[in-house]
Amino acid sequence: MLKNMFENKPTLSFEVFPPKKEGDFEAAYQVLDDLGSLSPDFISVTYGAGGSRAGKTVELASYIQNRLGIDAVAHMTCVGNRREDLLKVARALEENHVNHVLALRGDRPKDMTDEQFASRDFAHASDMMEFLGTHTPLQMAGACYPEKHFESFSMESDLNNLKKKQEAGAQFFISQLFFDNDYYYTFLEKAARKGIHAPICAGIMPITSARQISTTITLSGSSIPKALSDVIASYGDSPEDMRKAGIDYAIRQVRDLQENGVNHLHIYTMNKPSTAREIAAAVAR
Ligand code: FAD
Repeated sequence: MLKNMFENKPTLSFEVFPPKKEGDFEAAYQVLDDLGSLSPDFISVTYGAGGSRAGKTVELASYIQNRLGIDAVAHMTCVGNRREDLLKVARALEENHVNHVLALRGDRPKDMTDEQFASRDFAHASDMMEFLGTHTPLQMAGACYPEKHFESFSMESDLNNLKKKQEAGAQFFISQLFFDNDYYYTFLEKAARKGIHAPICAGIMPITSARQISTTITLSGSSIPKALSDVIASYGDSPEDMRKAGIDYAIRQVRDLQENGVNHLHIYTMNKPSTAREIAAAVAR
């Protein structure tokens, strides 16, 4: 439950994404059932920045909230949405008793022109948060970047913008995935010095195949420490060994985080409950 987070008790949460095809919903519900059996504090559901698939996010979030009885956090983006679209999604969430959103700017999808990207009503997540805070009862979270957001010219300016999200109503943050815990520790210190006191969930993505790593770096911009590139070099050609070694790396990361007093762990599950299960077993709660 999110209550645990605000009481600074250890929490474990998961991210899932909606299926691309309509016919895959049954499989998605099975994934959620499996993840639900691990009793996470919340499950977040991603949102396609084009906006056209918002209904899928609402549908999965509703299942999590109402069928599994677990707090759902629905992602929402400024990109691809006008004010009225956001209100429509907010209303659908409210009708489904989903009270929490991760408010994001989003990136430009491949099939969106620069003009369409620029024509959104809210430039930044913090602008959308102010709007949602005024017009909806939603509780909000925001994204943050231990290695800084790729568009920011400095960590200092990125943290100033993160502070704006807190001021705009973000009650907690979920971090971009990182593979080197030192970035996260330094980030926590800098954020605290800026007066950012909202809980910051540590985003961990287990790398279970060599192929996954290149997509992950492209999407996240996170750096790969030598220890992880050694794992890929050693096991990348053997899918089962790579899977084991990748999960083992993520487990070492979460153990180190917990030993260093980090209470809030968020696993990017890639809709793979078996991976989440192995990591959950290693997390002290
Ligand atoms: P913003 O907070 O708007 O920040 C973007 C850039 O603008 C940063 O450089 C920031 O420093 C700067 N900035 C922020 N506020 C201001 C301001 N007020 N004035 C000037 N500059 C400002 N994308 C999706 O499409 N769907 C998802 O479901 C999704 N889920 C995500 C989940 C997590 C945990 C994370 C970390 C990212 C996720 N993303 C998702 C990707 C996200 O949309 C991108 O990283 C995007 O580039 C930035 O989103 P943001 O909300 O951090 O943007």
